[in-house]
Amino acid sequence: MTRYPLLLALGLGGLSLFIAPTSDAQDADELVIGTASPAGVYHQAGRAICRVVEAPCRPEPGDGSVANLRALRNGELGIALAQSDIHYYAFSGTEGFQEAGPDSRLRSLFSLHGEPFTLVVRRDAGIQGLDDLEERAVNIGNPGSGQRGTMLRLMDARGWSLGSFRLANDLPAEQQAMELCHGKVDAMVYTVGHPNESVAQAIRLCDATLVDVEGPAVDMLVEAYPFFSRASIPGGLYGEDQPAIRTFGVRATLVASADTDPDRVYRLVADVFDNLLRFKAYHPAFGTLKPREMIQAGLSAPLHEGALRYYREQGWVDESGRVPDRPASRPADSATTTP
Ligand code: GLU
Repeated sequence: MTRYPLLLALGLGGLSLFIAPTSDAQDADELVIGTASPAGVYHQAGRAICRVVEAPCRPEPGDGSVANLRALRNGELGIALAQSDIHYYAFSGTEGFQEAGPDSRLRSLFSLHGEPFTLVVRRDAGIQGLDDLEERAVNIGNPGSGQRGTMLRLMDARGWSLGSFRLANDLPAEQQAMELCHGKVDAMVYTVGHPNESVAQAIRLCDATLVDVEGPAVDMLVEAYPFFSRASIPGGLYGEDQPAIRTFGVRATLVASADTDPDRVYRLVADVFDNLLRFKAYHPAFGTLKPREMIQAGLSAPLHEGALRYYREQGWVDESGRVPDRPASRPADSATTTP
């Protein structure tokens, strides 16, 4: 999390010492939400949450899901966004979290938009789908990002290692489109909601295109893991000739630590659901959000007690915290409450 100007500015020792007393005083109350690259949708989600919550709130850019879950575990963040696959790995202590072990303090708040695994290629690269990536130069995502985690899992399922590519680059989302356009890589991958700035840039600046991600490796992942599902990207989102895409994907989830103050979590969750229509209007990726899905889909860790309190009050979950088939009160799909 060091490549952002705000954080670099904190490296200016004398200056940060000088302003420390005021900012510390403000920080104690401030809700900080760990997001990802400003070129993606997480940062927009963090901004949208901060716009509906009635508390000082700031979205904090960073490396992405894996970095967020690590920061949550070691207390550097209280609330963050993370992909549902990485969320599961952190909670169960699998994949990239084997060494750290299961994070028993990890808690779920709710899930947000779907994140299709997205393969973007230069048109002159002759790449029609996943299998054509072999021996090519591919940006597989920065360390700490969710897209790198999804890609590594897919590579494993496909029987590939880093050596299967001529070059496996690790640039963050806000730099990968330029790398693609300059011909340094033939393809880039991104697990992300749509539309987003990184993909839009690649298409706008060098007429890149999206291709399907299908085949036996994808079938295996979707069948074997509850956090993967078939996904699609509608045609025309990035211009008239952008085709509809078939791929697989995960969901964005909002997570916290069991140590995160339950009252703050309760207020955040209440503000988001009480203002869901307004929240949904902040980004097209949020347009199809449905409360009933949001409180269960993609959530591997137990619900945070602050979130649970709100869902119980609404009658959306029973005493055991489950969403019953016939809840006392069904979360309205379009949200009954407006600002
Ligand atoms: N899914 C990506 C990650 O976890 C972030 C996508 C976004 O910024 O919207 O790293």
